[in-house]
Amino acid sequence: MTLHRIAVAVPGPFPFALTYLSDVPVPAGVRVEVPLRGRKVVGVVLDVPADDTLPEYRLKSIARILDEAPVLDETLLTFVQRLAAYYHAPLGEVMQLALPVALRQGKPMAVADVPLWQLTEAGRQQAVEDLPTRAVRQRRLLAHLRAVGSADAEALRGVSEDWRGTLRRFEEKGWVEVRTRPCLARKVEPDPRHDLNAAQEAVVSAIDTDTFGVHLLQGVTGSGKTAVYLALLERVLAAGRQALVLVPEIALTPQMVDRFEQWLGEPVVALHSGLNETERHCGWWMLASGQARVALGTRSALFSRFRNLGLIVVDEEHDPSYKQQEGVRYHARDMAIWRAQQLAIPVVLGSATPSLESLHHAQTGRYQHLSLPERVGGGALPQVKLLDIRGERIDAGVSAPLRHAMARHLAAGNQVLLFLNRRGFAPVLMCHDCGWQADCPACDSHLTYHARPEHLHCHHCDYQRPVPPTCPQCGSRNWLHVGQGTERLEAAMADVFPAVPVVRIDRDTTRRKGALEEQLARVHAGEPMILLGTQMLAKGHDFANVSLVGLLEMDQGLFSPDFHAPERMAQLIVQVAGRAGRRAQASEILLQTHQPDHPLLRTLAEGGYEAFAEAALQERQLAGLPPFSHQALLRVRSHHSEAAQAFLTQVTTAMGIWPQVADGSVALWGPVPSPMPRRQGYWRWQLLLQSESRKPLHAVLHRLVHGLWRQTPSAVQWSLDVDPVDL
Ligand code: ADP
Ligand code: ZN
Ligand code: ZN
Repeated sequence: MTLHRIAVAVPGPFPFALTYLSDVPVPAGVRVEVPLRGRKVVGVVLDVPADDTLPEYRLKSIARILDEAPVLDETLLTFVQRLAAYYHAPLGEVMQLALPVALRQGKPMAVADVPLWQLTEAGRQQAVEDLPTRAVRQRRLLAHLRAVGSADAEALRGVSEDWRGTLRRFEEKGWVEVRTRPCLARKVEPDPRHDLNAAQEAVVSAIDTDTFGVHLLQGVTGSGKTAVYLALLERVLAAGRQALVLVPEIALTPQMVDRFEQWLGEPVVALHSGLNETERHCGWWMLASGQARVALGTRSALFSRFRNLGLIVVDEEHDPSYKQQEGVRYHARDMAIWRAQQLAIPVVLGSATPSLESLHHAQTGRYQHLSLPERVGGGALPQVKLLDIRGERIDAGVSAPLRHAMARHLAAGNQVLLFLNRRGFAPVLMCHDCGWQADCPACDSHLTYHARPEHLHCHHCDYQRPVPPTCPQCGSRNWLHVGQGTERLEAAMADVFPAVPVVRIDRDTTRRKGALEEQLARVHAGEPMILLGTQMLAKGHDFANVSLVGLLEMDQGLFSPDFHAPERMAQLIVQVAGRAGRRAQASEILLQTHQPDHPLLRTLAEGGYEAFAEAALQERQLAGLPPFSHQALLRVRSHHSEAAQAFLTQVTTAMGIWPQVADGSVALWGPVPSPMPRRQGYWRWQLLLQSESRKPLHAVLHRLVHGLWRQTPSAVQWSLDVDPVDL
């Protein structure tokens, strides 16, 4: 009997598939249990050549075949393999992204339907009053079932403690029967929809949903992009296909899910990290089996299996959280385009502030550029005004002119929004007598001082400690809190405007489940107040009563060594500004700055995001930076101070004679210490690779990864970031 050699992607760092033996052929996409380093792991069979050089006696056999039909269909399998190749990421790890935990553990792919009890005809004839008065549980359960028609275990648990026993009685009497429902079955109350306006109609009809195409939809906040997505979804669903909508943040999903369900009148599968394993598996199965047609989720939802996907929407396509920053460093927006291309379906990228990459592709004609230039119901967005604060008196980060403006807007009965992208009370705690500063023992970073509860906190590695009772260097108790965080701003505003409520929104005030919703509800109630917070405010929310937006401490974006920083800064400014008063006519956006003459800031203020993007793209072109070139970043770290540098230097030197490097088609910049050289106890170094074209760059990366995989000393760890979004 001949044994079949099967290529299997197993979890682990291997940049290739491993080869196992089987006495039967196993189709690609099927999960198998295989031995690996003394353990049994779940892998996925691939449609690639298995190793035929190793002698049979050196190969292990597949222990168990877990599926009758592939878990990953052909298109998803191809997609995952292409993605792994592009990011030079271990196949097995990429494969994990496509499998809910339950499936990684070998559980069956189908999720069983949930039992559901409903009254029979006889049950419906039975009046509650005819039951004995002391049969309290029976009365309660019957009344409940009569009211709701049918209920599952979860609902019945809330009705009565011994609901199972009572149900059994009812079953014996022939009053109830068991039905089933799919694992996901929310009742959806459809809402009346509004018609699209002319601009929205124009966009919707410009998008051909029968073929691949990338459509960049640029529209200010409130211009009705979401309504366009919904109209497109409707069209695709009507054609019997499914749709995937990607959103950047979990915090945005609950209200989005409601809106989508109400419009479409059917349950939407929400996919995000807040789900438990059962929910995640259920969502996967609903989409894979075609029982659900719409998925709304954060970046990893891109790896869902669909029966018949017909459209992908990437909302807020500029958002950096689409880029995964650990493990497999993929960009969900870029990969959404690949997946759409592979399936020959359209992909819509929506944003008020598109990424420079996407704008560039729109300008060169690779993407269709569509726009919704006006807010629904009119009301132009106010311009950003630069507030020159050089020499101005500043209290707790707020300059006198801004404070006066705040007083004016509050007196007019409006709300004020202050944006400060730093949480905590103060970024530095310093001894006033000797200058000692509280630093993180594991990072090149100060500890942030938090006042309530009082402690010191590293925002890079999460290290926390109490505030020392006295200065460890000189024994003084004379502490200085240097700089501003949102906590301090909140306290200061409560002092300056004692009669005005202050709502702070940042990670610290919204940690508790439901806290964000409570805070937002307070804001939406509409009374005059000061709303302040970090970039959590920049996303998705719509504050109708805010008429003044103040932006504090944005200047760092102009001076960062990372060339992405100005783009990020401009997007933040415009996104925060977009939260302001959709109705209020006299809205103002004030940006405090010490750099009122900086060309990029001026362009943004005078010409808006479009003009800024134009100028920023020109700068990138002159400097030969992406999107006019391609980059990859090799990061190396070690707990031993010299090891990372030594290793990276050795790698860089070795690469010097590789043809693409030697002939200059791939440039190496480095090794240099990472922007924060020590972090989480590691010493960190990096090497930037850049090339005008992808081909030589990827040839170098391929060789690099295969070499590194074998040669890395145990004290050193490395990671490769293709198309890095922060350097
Ligand atoms: P965006 O996604 O661009 O921020 P939305 O789609 O959320 O914009 O639209 C902003 C607001 O305007 C929402 O409250 C939405 O219900 C409403 N809206 C959108 N399109 C229309 C329309 N054609 N007619 C009436 N209201 C609309
Ligand atoms: Zn001191
Ligand atoms: Zn730290």
